[in-house]
Parts: sequence; C-alpha cells; structure tokens
Amino acid sequence: MISTRQLAYRYANGPELRFADVEVAQGGTLLLRGASGSGKSTWLALAAGLLAPGEGDITVAGQSLKALGGRASDAWRAKTIGFLPQKLHLSAALTVHGNLAMAQWAAGQPDDDARIAEALAALDVQALADRKPSQLSGGQGQRVALARAVLLKPCVILADEPTASLDDDAAAASLALLRAAAQQQGATLVIATHDARVHAFFKDKKGLQSLLVQRKQL
Ligand code: ADP
Ligand code: MG
Repeated sequence: MISTRQLAYRYANGPELRFADVEVAQGGTLLLRGASGSGKSTWLALAAGLLAPGEGDITVAGQSLKALGGRASDAWRAKTIGFLPQKLHLSAALTVHGNLAMAQWAAGQPDDDARIAEALAALDVQALADRKPSQLSGGQGQRVALARAVLLKPCVILADEPTASLDDDAAAASLALLRAAAQQQGATLVIATHDARVHAFFKDKKGLQSLLVQRKQL
C-alpha cells in the first residue's frame, strides 16, 4: 500500500515539485506518467525513503516516511522496497551471483545462496550466475537487476523507465517480468515512464492506477 498527501519536494537551487495525492492498494499497479523532468524519478526516491518529503507525507506499507524523521533507514528500505533503477548499477567487479550476495550483505541479511539461485531462476538467468555484468546483454542485465530487486521479497517494487532503450519485444518482455514478479509476491508495483508502450501494455490490466506528474504552471 502506498498513499501520499500533499507531497512536495524542492531540490536546493532546483524546482519545487508538487504531486497530486494518490492511494494504491497492496498488490496494485501505479503508472507515474509525465514528461521528462516532471518529477517521476523524484517521486520514486521519496517512496524509497531516499529523499525526505519537504512537505506533506508519503506512507509506504503502513510506514509514514515523514515519521521516520527524514531519510528512511537502509534496513527499512531493504526489507520493504525493491528498486529497479534506470541505470542498473550492477557492480562491474562482481559476478551476477556476487551482485545478489552483496545485496543480501548490504541489507544485513545472512548469506542465502539458495534464495539467490531461486531469484535468478525465476528470471531465467541462473545460467549467467558466474558472468560479470560486462558479459551480459542489455536485456540480461535488466533481468539480473530485477532478480536483485526482488531478492528480499519486498512488498513494493519501484521501476524507473524500465523500457528505455529496449526494442518492442524486449520492452514487452520486461513489463511482463515486472508484473509477474509483483504478482507472485503480492507486491505493489510502481513504474515511472514516459513510454507510451507501457500504457498500452497495462491498459486492460486489473488494479491499475495512473498518476500524471506535472510541473506547476508558473
Ligand atoms: P523525471 O524523472 O520525470 O524526468 P526528475 O524527478 O528526475 O524528473 O527531475 C524533476 C526535476 O528536478 C527536473 O527539473 C530536474 O532537473 C530536477 N532535479 C532532479 N534532480 C535534481 C538535483 N539533484 N538537484 C537539482 N535539481 C534536480
Ligand atoms: Mg526520471
């Protein structure tokens, strides 16, 4: 579950961003639409507790992020949020398996190779476990990043422009994987995108909401 109330954020020397209120039930899907620079990635950073709301509040899985007193703890984020960033941020020095192991370590979780194997298998990339990120195609890298995002079974999955730079087939596959990963866990899914293909993909799906992010008119 995610709900926002008069949520606003202002970067130092940057624009003031104000977001319309939204309420997404657990297991629902929210599309964050809007032009480039409208504030979609900022909304995701607020939902992940990476930025603290300047005004208003956002409640994620029952936790008011304002009440967390600024930035959410890494422990809270690790157990609550699965993030698929626009740039995948896989560590080039580590194997695929090592990248997922590092995510467990960073979250203070015990080593769990069986869970890593399970997450990689669910995205059909278990055969790539010993490769380095430089040895993956774009689509493979995204599957690995998604396996990492769902590794700790988060109740919210946030994806930032997951179809950018993918061709039509790969974009559809990526969206199907995201939706399946969310459904399997009953996770709430939020996708920030200005890609019309994403809206077409989700158009007739159940539990869909959409929020148009817009810059305030001056
Ligand atoms: P979107 O993801 O919709 O393209 P962003 O959330 O990345 O939009 O950015 C919203 C606005 O905030 C843009 O005008 C952008 O230039 C500005 N912005 C983003 N990050 C920063 C930052 N770190 N410092 C100052 N301004 C920023
Ligand atoms: Mg963005």
